[in-house]
Amino acid sequence: MIVWTHDRWRFPLPEHNRFPIEKYTLLRERVEADGVEILEAEPVPWAWLEAVHDPALIERIRSGSLSVREERGLGIPWSEALVERGRRSVGGTVAAAGLALEQGLGMNLGGGTHHAGRAFARGYCLFNDVAVALDRMRAEGRARRALVVDCDVHQGDGTADLFGSDPDCFTLSLHGARNYPFKRIPSDLDVDLESGTGDAAYLAALADALDVAIPRAGAELAFYLAGADPWHGDRLGRLALTKEGLLARDELVLDRLRATGAAVCVVLAGGYAKDVGDTVDINASTVRAVTSRSVALRDCR
Ligand SMILES: [Zn+2]
Repeated sequence: MIVWTHDRWRFPLPEHNRFPIEKYTLLRERVEADGVEILEAEPVPWAWLEAVHDPALIERIRSGSLSVREERGLGIPWSEALVERGRRSVGGTVAAAGLALEQGLGMNLGGGTHHAGRAFARGYCLFNDVAVALDRMRAEGRARRALVVDCDVHQGDGTADLFGSDPDCFTLSLHGARNYPFKRIPSDLDVDLESGTGDAAYLAALADALDVAIPRAGAELAFYLAGADPWHGDRLGRLALTKEGLLARDELVLDRLRATGAAVCVVLAGGYAKDVGDTVDINASTVRAVTSRSVALRDCR
């Protein structure tokens, strides 16, 4: 199975900024050592971004004319390198969604930028990769009905904004009730979890939510945001899952989605452990859960 990366396209970050730029390179190296084939993602054309986002926002991003307030909300200073990387991050998700539709599963070692909405870019998220990927698959006539399973610890406000009036895309977000964003845009199904929620309660809530979301969505293509930030040691999350619990979460989502026959595209989303190695452990374990299922799929053909 092929997965996509964009980790070589780095951008300048101020000291003490909490964006975990190292995790992408460390993860790519770990996944490479596991023998997984990795391709570098291409930047998506501007027209693909304008088809989903407000063209005026895209123009401000392209030309470096975001307002001071917008840049503060983004949490990362604008640079040409940041924009290039953002376009490649979306490119990885588009490619992974295409592979998922061909082979059942696809994964981008990035993406999951779910705080980017139609006319806003915030919370480290420049473009909404999942929305652009689904738009492309629809434009190419490859899929229509979709489900987004967002298990990042932060609520998927940008995704909810983009799909709010879309009857063919069901959005599910499972997140810390007291986590960012503090002003929500409602998903089709939001599950607010108390601070300190551990493995058992989390997995039970997730299973219940999938029971509702999967039949409602009737999806041909599902996106899974496998955020590492519900981990108990995460600096920006308030939940208390263990690494074993996060793997059980990945397996539950992947197996439930695959059982419906939907193509599944997996993206990383957030992860802000004090030691980036812990985030990489969690992400690498997600990659193994995905690639092991891809092998099984090929074997039974
Ligand atoms: Zn997050």
